[in-house]
Amino acid sequence: MELNRRSFIRMSGAALAASSIGALGFGASGEALAASVRPFKLTRTAETRNTCTYCSVACGILIYTLGDRAKNAKPSVVHIEGDPDHPVNRGTLCPKGAALLDVVHAPTRVKYPMHRAPGSNEFKRVSWDFALDRLATLMKQDRDANFVTRNAAGTTVNRWTTTGMLAASASSNETAFLTWKIVRSFGMVVFDNQARV
Ligand code: SF4
Repeated sequence: MELNRRSFIRMSGAALAASSIGALGFGASGEALAASVRPFKLTRTAETRNTCTYCSVACGILIYTLGDRAKNAKPSVVHIEGDPDHPVNRGTLCPKGAALLDVVHAPTRVKYPMHRAPGSNEFKRVSWDFALDRLATLMKQDRDANFVTRNAAGTTVNRWTTTGMLAASASSNETAFLTWKIVRSFGMVVFDNQARV
C-alpha cells in the first residue's frame, strides 16, 4: 500500500480517536446502554378506543392489543389506559378503571350468552341468535299476559309492570336515548340504570 503524507495523517488521527474513545470506556458503555433500554411495550400493539365498563362516569379508555389482526395471530390485550382525548376524563382513570386489565383477563368473566334451562342447575353457552330470540319470546309472552290498558278508575295507563330493564351505564347519549324510547314504547315502567350499582 502506498502511503503518502496526507493518508498517513488521516490514518493516524483515526487510530488515535478510536484508542481514546476505547480508553475512556465509551464502547462498553454504549453496549451497556443499548442492553439496558427495554423495547417500548406498546410498539407492536393495535389501539382501540372504548368506554370503562364500571360506572356512569363513562370514562374513555385506550385498549392496546398485541397481534396484527392476521388470521393466524391470537390477539391479547396487554395494556389499558385513560384516553387523553376523551372529554369526560381527559386521560385519567380512577383505581377501578386503572385495573380494567384484570377484568379483561379474569377467568370468571362472561364472554358469551349463557342460558340456564328451566329445571337445570347449570348454565350453558348459547348463540346470540338463541339468546335474543329467547328474550323476545319471553318478553312478548309476559307483555301479552300482563299489559294494563286502564287502571281501576278507567283512566288509560298503557303500562307493563311485570318485566323490567337494567340499562348499561357506559352507553353513549344516543344509545341511552334509543334505549329509553324502546323501553317506554313497550309501556315498560320498571327501568333502571347500572350507574347506581
Ligand atoms: S374509570 Fe372510574 S370513574 Fe371512570 S367510568 Fe371507570 S369506574 Fe367510573
